[in-house]
Amino acid sequence: QTAPRSPDGATPAMAQWFVAKAQHPDALVFFRMGDFFELFFEDAHRAADLLGLAVAHRGEHRGEPIPMAGVPAHALEGYLARLIRLGFRVAICDQRETPEQAKARKAPTIRREVVRLVTPGTITEDALLDGARPAWLLALCPAAEGGPDAGRLGAAWADLSTGAFRTEALAEAELPALLARLEPAELLAPDALEHHPALAALAERIAPMQPPRDAARELAGFYGVATMDGFGSFAAAELGAAAMALAYIRATQGEAAPRLRPPEPAGGGGTLRMDAATRRSLEILRSERGDTRNCLLTAVDRTLTAPGARELAARLACPLAELEPIAARHDAVACLLADAPARATLRNQLKGAPDMARALARLSLDRFAPRDLAALRDGLARAEAMAEFLHDRDLPPLLAAAADALIPAASPRAELDRALAETLPARTEDGGVVAPGYDGELDALRRLRDDGRAAIAAMQLDLAQAWGVASLKIRHHQQFGYLAEMPAAAGEKLLRNPLAPGPMAPVHRQTMANAIRFTCTALAELDRKLSEAGQHAARREALVVRHLRTLCLEAAAGIDATAAAMAEFDIHAAAAELASGARWCRPAMLERPDFHISQGRHPVVEAALARDRLKGAAFVPNDADLSPGQRLCLLTGPNMAGKSTFLRQNAIMAVLAQAGLFVPAAEARIGLVDRLFSRVGAADDIAGGRSTFMVEMTETAAILNQATARSLVVLDEVGRGTATWDGLAIGWAVLEALHDRIRCRAIFATHFHELTALTGKLPELTPATMKVREHKGEVVFLHLVAPGASERSWGLHVAKLAGVPREVVTRATAVLAALEERARGLDPLAEEMPLFARAAPPAVPVAADTGADDTLRAALDEIDPDTLTPRAALEALYRLKALS
Ligand code: ADP
Repeated sequence: QTAPRSPDGATPAMAQWFVAKAQHPDALVFFRMGDFFELFFEDAHRAADLLGLAVAHRGEHRGEPIPMAGVPAHALEGYLARLIRLGFRVAICDQRETPEQAKARKAPTIRREVVRLVTPGTITEDALLDGARPAWLLALCPAAEGGPDAGRLGAAWADLSTGAFRTEALAEAELPALLARLEPAELLAPDALEHHPALAALAERIAPMQPPRDAARELAGFYGVATMDGFGSFAAAELGAAAMALAYIRATQGEAAPRLRPPEPAGGGGTLRMDAATRRSLEILRSERGDTRNCLLTAVDRTLTAPGARELAARLACPLAELEPIAARHDAVACLLADAPARATLRNQLKGAPDMARALARLSLDRFAPRDLAALRDGLARAEAMAEFLHDRDLPPLLAAAADALIPAASPRAELDRALAETLPARTEDGGVVAPGYDGELDALRRLRDDGRAAIAAMQLDLAQAWGVASLKIRHHQQFGYLAEMPAAAGEKLLRNPLAPGPMAPVHRQTMANAIRFTCTALAELDRKLSEAGQHAARREALVVRHLRTLCLEAAAGIDATAAAMAEFDIHAAAAELASGARWCRPAMLERPDFHISQGRHPVVEAALARDRLKGAAFVPNDADLSPGQRLCLLTGPNMAGKSTFLRQNAIMAVLAQAGLFVPAAEARIGLVDRLFSRVGAADDIAGGRSTFMVEMTETAAILNQATARSLVVLDEVGRGTATWDGLAIGWAVLEALHDRIRCRAIFATHFHELTALTGKLPELTPATMKVREHKGEVVFLHLVAPGASERSWGLHVAKLAGVPREVVTRATAVLAALEERARGLDPLAEEMPLFARAAPPAVPVAADTGADDTLRAALDEIDPDTLTPRAALEALYRLKALS
C-alpha cells in the first residue's frame, strides 16, 4: 500500500520534514521515525561525514532517491554532543502522538513537530555540558542611535542549565574583554553587529537576531511583573539584549518553560578589569594554546563539586576590586584553613555532591530523568548533613550566611526520600521510579499487573496440557503482545489436527523458520487485561512523578540558594585546601597602592615543574616590591631566564587575591588593583591580519590610555617587533609615561640594556635582573631576580644552547665585540632628549664605509634638526642610510 502524496509529490512524513526544514534552515533536522532519528538530503550527507554514519536511500523525491542517515533514538545524546561541540544547531522533530492515536483520527501519518532546537548556548544535558564551566548564551544589543547611550552596547548572558541571567552596559571597545571573560558558547547579535571585528573569530557561533520592539514589556510579561525596575536599573540596550536572550531561549525550547532567574545588572564598579589580551596572557581559564589543562584555573582548582568549580571559574574570570567583599572571602578561607578537621568533614560531605542547579533546569524544561529527582534528594540530604555539622559553630559572616541557606524553607527532601525507588531506571517510561508503599493506587495497579503476569505463567501450563505441546512457551512481542510459541514440528502437527472450538482453541498467528506462534481467545483476553493494567500503572506512575516534579519546582528558589551555599563552602574549603598544601598565604589587602610579595611563585609553572620531578628542578621563589617610592621595576636578563614567569606570577597574585583566594607566597601586601594589564607572550593576530608589531602597539596604546594610578601593569619587551632603535625609543617613552603620567605599579622586562640608563633618571624605577651564572663557558639560569642590571646580554649563549652552528656563534661573537666597541661612549643620558636626533646607531662592521656622494649631501641639506620629532629624525636617518 503506497502512502498518499502531498501536492509536491512528497509522502505525508516527508511533507512534515519539509515544514521542519523550512522553519530551521540553519539546523540539522533530526526526524523521529519509530526507534530512529533520521536525517535527509544534504543533512544526511553532512551528518554521515561528521558522525561516521552510513547513507542509505529511501523513496524518491522528484524522481531522485532521497539520501537518508539515522541514529537510534536511545543514543541521541551522544550524537548531539558531538554535533554541538562542532558548533552545529540541531532541530529535534519528534512524534507527537502514538500510532494508535494517528489511526484513531484517520491521519495518513503520525503528527511530528519540532519540539526543540538544540544549540550550543541552550543545552541542559550533562552529556553535552562541561560540568566545571558555565555555558553562556550571550546576547548583544547596540544602544539606539542618537540616544544618550549611542555607541554603547547592552549585553545579557544566560546559562539555561543553571538559570543564571546577567546584564551589563558597556562601551563597544570593552566587547573583546567581555568575550574573553565569558567565553560564550553561543552569541545573538543583530545584523548591525554581526561584522564587528571583535566577533570575527566567533562568527560560527553567532545566531543573527534583532532585538524585540518592546523589550521591557516582554521581560516583565515573562516574570509576571508590571515593570523590570524592581530587579535593578537597566539601560535600554541591556533590556534589549535580555529580551533577545529570553526570546531565543523560548524559541529553542518548544513548549517547555525555561527556568531563568530575573536578570541581574552587573553595573560596572567593584570588579578588577582585565582586557582580552591580559586574560590570554595570564592564561586564566585556558592556556595560550587554547587547552584547559595548563591554565591558572586548573592549577588552583581543588573544588569537589561542579557548581563549586563553575563558581571558581567565574570568580577567577572576574575578580573583585573592593576591600570588604574580598576580605570576607579571605576570612572564610582563613577559617577553614585553621580548622583542618572541619574542612575535612565538609569536603567529605561535598565530595561527589550532585549538580542540583542543572537538575532543576532539566526538571523545569520537562526534560528530566529519574536521576534528576535523585540528584535533588541526595544534594539536599548532603546539605542537611552539612547544616547539622555546622550548627552552633562560630563562622565568619560569609560562611554563616551560607550555612543558613543550606536548608530550603520548603524542602522536598523527605518526600523524595519516601517516593523514589532504591534503584532508578534511566527513563520514567521504563517504570519503577516510585517506591512501593508511596502511592496506594499505584501499588494496586502494579499488583494487578503482576497478578496478570502470574496468570500468564499459569496459562502456559494450561495451554501446554490442552494442546499437548510440552515445549510451549508464552512470550511477549512488541508488536503482537503475548503469543504461545512452539517448535515448527509441534506447530505443524497442531495445524494438521485442529482442536474443538472454544476459548482455548489455537489460532495461528505466525510461521517462522523454526517456530510457529499461536494465540487463543483466552490468551488474547488475558493479554488485553494485562496490557491495560500495565498502562494504568505506567500512567499512574507518570502522574506521581509529575507531582514530585511540581513539588521540586515549587521549592526551586530555595534549592537554588542551597546549591549556591554548597558551592560557597566548596570554593572556600578548596582554597583552604590549596593553601594548606604548601606556602600559600593570606594577602594583606590595602587601599594604599602597595605591592609587596615575598617569595612569590607561579602556580602553573610550579605545578609543571613538580610533575617533572625527574628533572630535579624546583621552582625558585622571587620577591617583588612595587610599593610607593619604587613603583616601577625594570627587569633585564637573557631569554629563558624566567622573565615572563616572574611578570606573570605577580599579575596572577593580584587575580588570585582579589578573586578571594590566598596567594602562592610567603607574605603578600597588595593595594587594590583597579585594572590589570599583562602583555607577556605571543602577540600575533594572524586571523585579524595585523602584524605582531601592530598588535603590540595597539595593546600598548590601550594601556597608556586606560591605566590609572591604581593599576598594575606587566609588560614584556615592548618594541621587540620593530627595528632596534624604534623599539628602544618606544620602550623608553612608554616607561617615562608610566612613571611620570600614569604613576601605576609596573614591571617592565626588556632586553634593551640601554634602558637601564633610565633608572638613573626616573627616581621610582628600580633595576632588577635575572641571575645567570657562567660555568665552564656554559650559562646556568638561576631563575633568581636580583637588584641591578644584567652586565651583558646572554643571547649568544642561548643561541649556542639552542644548537646554532658553532661557526655562526663564533662570527656573531666577533660582530658583537665590534658593535660594543663602536657603541662605547654612546651614553644616551649624556645629553638631553631628543636622543635619537643626535646619536646614530652603530653600524655593523662590514666593508669600509663609502664616502657620502652628492645625493646624500643634498638629502642632508634638506634636514633641519631643530624642527624634527624623534620619529621623523629616525625616518630621516633610515632615508640617509638607504642612500649611502
Ligand atoms: P623568559 O621569559 O626569560 O624567556 P620564561 O619565564 O619563559 O623565560 O622561563 C623559561 C623556563 O624557565 C620556564 O618554562 C620554566 O621552566 C623555567 N623557570 C622560569 N622561572 C622559574 C623559576 N622561578 N624557578 C624555576 N624555573 C623557572
